[in-house]
Amino acid sequence: MDKKEIERLKEKLVAERERIAESMRRFASELDFGDDTDHGEEEADEAEETANFLSVKQSQDKRLEQIDSALERIKNGTFGACAECGKSIEKEILNIDPESLLCKSCKMKERKR
Ligand SMILES: [Zn+2]
Repeated sequence: MDKKEIERLKEKLVAERERIAESMRRFASELDFGDDTDHGEEEADEAEETANFLSVKQSQDKRLEQIDSALERIKNGTFGACAECGKSIEKEILNIDPESLLCKSCKMKERKR
């Protein structure tokens, strides 16, 4: 994997990170945490919305973490090496999933576990 390609993936990761952060900001601002509603039904809706928000937020936070750790690996030069076997991760995988930690065969093994 040459520098140019890593640079390209880095841009992709940074853009993805921005996109997630932005969508979470929008999501949070659309949520009305009930300052003027005190009717039972609306409160139930709000509780549901809040629960929904938290579960989305949880998965987005996890993704942000993965992206950050990929960016960290780019910085310290370990990007593209499989965390399991140490071989280079296939380009086709990094193109689809730049934050991937595993090469193709380790991913397959992981899935079977
Ligand atoms: Zn591997």
